[in-house]
Parts: sequence; C-alpha cells; structure tokens
Amino acid sequence: MAGLALPTAAAAALMFTATGAAVVTTSKTQPVSQNATLAAASLQAAVLAGRLNDPRLQAIEANAQDIARENGGARVARAAERRSLAARELEDARVAQEHSWQLPIKNYVISSGYGMRWGRLHAGEDFATPVGTNLISMSTGTVIFAGQESGYGTIVKIRYWDGTVSFYGHMSSLSVTAGEPVMPGQLVGQSGNTGESTGPHLHLEIHPNGGPPVNPLPWLTDRKIAF
Ligand SMILES: [Zn+2]
Repeated sequence: MAGLALPTAAAAALMFTATGAAVVTTSKTQPVSQNATLAAASLQAAVLAGRLNDPRLQAIEANAQDIARENGGARVARAAERRSLAARELEDARVAQEHSWQLPIKNYVISSGYGMRWGRLHAGEDFATPVGTNLISMSTGTVIFAGQESGYGTIVKIRYWDGTVSFYGHMSSLSVTAGEPVMPGQLVGQSGNTGESTGPHLHLEIHPNGGPPVNPLPWLTDRKIAF
C-alpha cells in the first residue's frame, strides 16, 4: 500500500461496484479498482483525506452542536433567571412597600403618654394637633371599624397585614368605611376633639394581633417609625 497514491482531498470521491469493491475516483475520473483490502484502506484514506464522513469528525461536530445547544440553552436559562430575578426584585419592592410603616399623623406635639392616668390606664399615645389634621393609614390593612364609640368619639380601627390593630380616637371626620382595604399613607379621616377628650388630638392605640393595647412608642421604635 505504500505506493498507493491518494487523491487530493477536494477531488476524492468513493463509489462502490456491484462486487462490493470500492472504486476511488479522482478529479480526472480515472477509476482505480483495488482488491477488498486495498479498497478498505482506500476507503479509510479517502474518508480521512476528504474529511467528510469521518465518524470522529462527525462525533466532534455532534459534540460541537451539543455544546452550541447547551450554550443556547444556558443563554435561555440565564435570560429566564434574569427575568425571574427582576420579577423577584419587583415583588420584594412591592411587598416592602405594602409592609412599610408610617406615623398616622405628620403635624403634632406628643401631649400624653401611655400609662396610668387619673387612676386608670391611658391605653394609647396622644398627639395634640388642630381639628381637621389629616390622619393616614400606618400600613396595608383593612378598616374593621369606622364610626362612633363611647369615650373614643369618632374612631377608625384598622387591622394591618401583620395582625396589629390601630385605633385612631377623637376624630372629626371619616374618609373610609368598615371592610375597606387601605394602603400605607392612605387618608382615613381627620383629627378632632370628639368623645371624652380634653382638647384636639389624635389618641393612638396599638393592639398587637388585636389583643390588649401596648405602649405605642416602643412599638413604633421597633418598626423604625420616627416620631
Ligand atoms: Zn389618649
């Protein structure tokens, strides 16, 4: 076989005769018939020279296609991951906004604190403010009462997303009704001097999980609500 002259890669082509012997043709279309052994060698040589049907090349090509597919898949996966991350960030921002806390009132002077007063518990914090000062929801929640109650006068009770219930007592007007959802900062009414009140102020009570009242100021501090 040493003397076998291989056709150039570009010109190589293979044909099979009726007897199964391979015929290697060249660009000059001069058939060179060989015996079976030579034909096999020629086949291999021609394939290698032609680099068209080499199973190793095919494997490499297939592998390359797999890699391309995987890379394409990875790009799609990365894009999906970016979209997912963006969606999570939006959702986190939305929840952070929904769960944000703020004071019910902007202009006030703290006038009386939570604790025993005149022989009984003063269950809230008093924020002195002119009648008609806007009062806003402290966070996302639902109005559970809006109306008149003995002692409190006109009052709004809101249950927030964490179960806390706030009371705004001695109001002059209401902007919400029971059952209404509220958002942080939403106007719920205006301050006043109704009920058992000795002057215009907001009486704020905080009832964790709707239970007994707690001192509002530490509760506000725990939620980083400045006052
Ligand atoms: Zn009070």
